[in-house]
This record gives sequence, structure tokens and C-alpha cells, in this order.
Amino acid sequence: MSAAERDNLVPAEGDVAPGPATPGPGEPLSAEEDSQPEEPRLHLLKGKPWLIDPGRRAKWSEPEFVAAHALDIRQVGDPVLHAPAKKPRLPLKELELLVARMFASMVKAHGIGIAAPQIGVPLRVAIIDVDAMGIVVVNPVIDWVSSEVEETSEGCLSVRGLYGMLERPLEARLVGEDIRGSRFTLYGDDLGAQCMIHETQHLDGVLYIDKLKSRQDLRPVEDERQSVSGHSRAEMEGATSA
Ligand SMILES: [Zn+2]
Repeated sequence: MSAAERDNLVPAEGDVAPGPATPGPGEPLSAEEDSQPEEPRLHLLKGKPWLIDPGRRAKWSEPEFVAAHALDIRQVGDPVLHAPAKKPRLPLKELELLVARMFASMVKAHGIGIAAPQIGVPLRVAIIDVDAMGIVVVNPVIDWVSSEVEETSEGCLSVRGLYGMLERPLEARLVGEDIRGSRFTLYGDDLGAQCMIHETQHLDGVLYIDKLKSRQDLRPVEDERQSVSGHSRAEMEGATSA
């Protein structure tokens, strides 16, 4: 990957600070310590995704914008979360509006990723926002995963207040399209790989709880503070209630 390609994926503002390794459950960190690592966990290998750049992020995070555009996050049991989504065939403007609504809903719920079915739209569109990358992907496919796996905690905006431990590949590669249909390839490790896999599975109607050995492995997020500061980096999309 060239430096230019890499720069393309590095958040522009100084919002990425060195941080400690991902804590395990029960190891709450202070808000200051709960920062992102210096090295982004997503790398562009080929092509160029449509990004929620710092300008859009600022505008789409404003309270007025969020209030006007955020939708309720559908919760486990809602049929839209348990059926495969379809390829979007929307005019560009409508696709952009869908992405804006997804982003606002994710911001409101303190997530680091979201898939369109989570706001009730059964289309194959997702946002992967690990390390504030703001990557929008249409029709994503995970075309490679590492054989090496790690036991990790994971949560979901659609399974509010709970998290579970499961095995996920350490690395993954995703092929997808930008909002105009141009293809790109993304590589992720650690939380980057986890988020790519998690969001892609949403589009197939699969939740992380379907991957647990037993629903008994689900644990409550004990309190809001812990869920925000102690688990949110380790749990996909956080597991905080909005
Ligand atoms: Zn989810």
C-alpha cells in the first residue's frame, strides 16, 4: 500500500492517540485512557471507499442533525435483523441520505459501526467506524480471514445492554463497493477485522449472539459508565443504551 493510500484512511484530526492494549471485561479504563491506538486497524489495499470525512462527521454529529435524522435501533427479534438484506438500487441522493441516517443513529447510540437493517432498512449498506475511519461500504463480502483467531468480547447496538465472548479471526479482508459502485478492498486486524465481519454478518441476517456457543455466555453491561469507558472499544458498536 502506498503512503498516499494509507494517508487516505488516517483521520485528519488529532483524535488518534496512543493507548494501551484493549482491556478485557471488568477492566474499566478512564475516559482519557480509553483512546485509540496510534496505528489504525483498517488499511485500504485497493480502490477508494466513500468516507465520512471530518467535515461530514462534524455536520452529521451536530445535535440538531442527529435529532432530525437518527432512527431507533432495531433490537434482536425484529425480523429485519434476521433476514438477508438486498443489494441497494437507490438513486445516489437517497443512498447518501440513508448513510446520513445510519451515521446519526450510530452517533446517538455511541456505536463504532452500523448496518442498514439496524435502522429498519433491509439493504446491504454498512458503516465501519473503527478508529473514526468512517468507511461506507455497499455489498460487502469478507473474502479472506486469518486462521489465527482470538477470544474477544463483542456487543451490538441491536442487543442492548449485553456483551458476549466469542472467537473472531485476528485479521480479515473485505471487498465492497463505494456508493457509486466502484470496488475497493479493505484489510483489518484486531477490532478492525472484528467490525468488518460483524457488519457484514448483519447484512446476512446474522448477529454475534448467533455465533455464541450458548446464550448463557451473554453478560450484562453493568453500568453506563463501564459500558462507555471500559468496554466500548472491545465491544462492537458499544453496548450502551442510547
Ligand atoms: Zn451489531
